[in-house]
Amino acid sequence: KLHNELQELKGNIRVYCRIRPFLRGQTGKQTIIEYIGENGELVVVNPSKQGKDGHRSFKFNKVYGPAATQVEVFSDTQPLLQSLLDGYNVCIFAYGQTGSGKTHTMTGPESASEDEWGVNYRALNDLFRISQTRERTYKYEIKVQMVEIYNEQVHDLLSSDGPQKRYPSLAIVIYFVFLDFHTLGILSTSQTNGLSVPDATMHPVASTFDVIELMETGLRNRAQGATALNERSSRSHSVVTIHVHGTDTKTGASLRSSLHLVDLAGSERVDRSEVTGDRLKEAQHINKSLSALGDVIFALAQKSPHVPYRNSKLTQILQSSLGGQAKTLMFVQLNPDIGSFSESVNTLKFAERVS
Ligand code: ADP
Ligand code: MG
Repeated sequence: KLHNELQELKGNIRVYCRIRPFLRGQTGKQTIIEYIGENGELVVVNPSKQGKDGHRSFKFNKVYGPAATQVEVFSDTQPLLQSLLDGYNVCIFAYGQTGSGKTHTMTGPESASEDEWGVNYRALNDLFRISQTRERTYKYEIKVQMVEIYNEQVHDLLSSDGPQKRYPSLAIVIYFVFLDFHTLGILSTSQTNGLSVPDATMHPVASTFDVIELMETGLRNRAQGATALNERSSRSHSVVTIHVHGTDTKTGASLRSSLHLVDLAGSERVDRSEVTGDRLKEAQHINKSLSALGDVIFALAQKSPHVPYRNSKLTQILQSSLGGQAKTLMFVQLNPDIGSFSESVNTLKFAERVS
């Protein structure tokens, strides 16, 4: 049912809002959440503002309150994986300020038990499961790439060659889609088999265990670039790409699709008067790429004939899974604390523009 719903959405863009719980030691804090409706309505409130000004209403495809489990969240994401194996490109990303739960949603806590797995692990687990049920008719190959975009440079998080090889910035291939003018079907997507970062290492995976091992390596490598452990990860985008190649066992016909799983850099506004040097440069790059992403999704939602993919590395990499037949899901992450009210409103406005 959800699958059909997804098909009907304009431009195939879906927006889910997720509010994280208060964390241990945060008792007594005041929440901005006033109301969560069954159909994706959300009202936030700023108690320090009297009257109407303090209340704002939003509407999304879904809103998950602080008690929502990883399993619940994934159950609404699952139909996208069916689509992936049917040959559609898919993009799932998490947007929000640092500390709002992006990594929790996409990956889950560090060394998580299966219960706490985020979308990444569940998605791959599901791909293996579905591909097994189709074993007789289709043979699937699944491969993984993982890169980081930091200051508009792309780095391979899964290179085994250490920092030297990991850090030179990798090139991105811009897509050329060749259409068959009689049927308007896609003939091919450039000469690189649809790889947007052809030089990033490619890792075949056959089990969830393989995936866990790879992601742990990637996350470790991501943290290494930082002086303070968590800092870098909040200022870079991480993109896990799952490439699926299916072959029809009878006819030999083949099908290629890809899934991008994106943990974006923190969306918080940086006060220009307070930062300088590297920190300012980072902030400007993040700002630029997040607005480029917003512009692309906005253009798609408006069915605009011009979609500005070229304005950032992020949108170039994600191009194959944004627009056209692709299906896109954005998680809008919120910290419920009153102290984050204005950041949360910024986040909600970003989401509102594209949904
Ligand atoms: P971000 O990646 O956006 O910076 P994190 O995912 O690291 O944020 O979340 C910040 C903190 O909140 C982490 O300690 C994380 O474990 C916790 N957290 C986030 N979302 C949830 C949730 N839904 N349930 C429980 N803890 C959560
Ligand atoms: Mg994070």
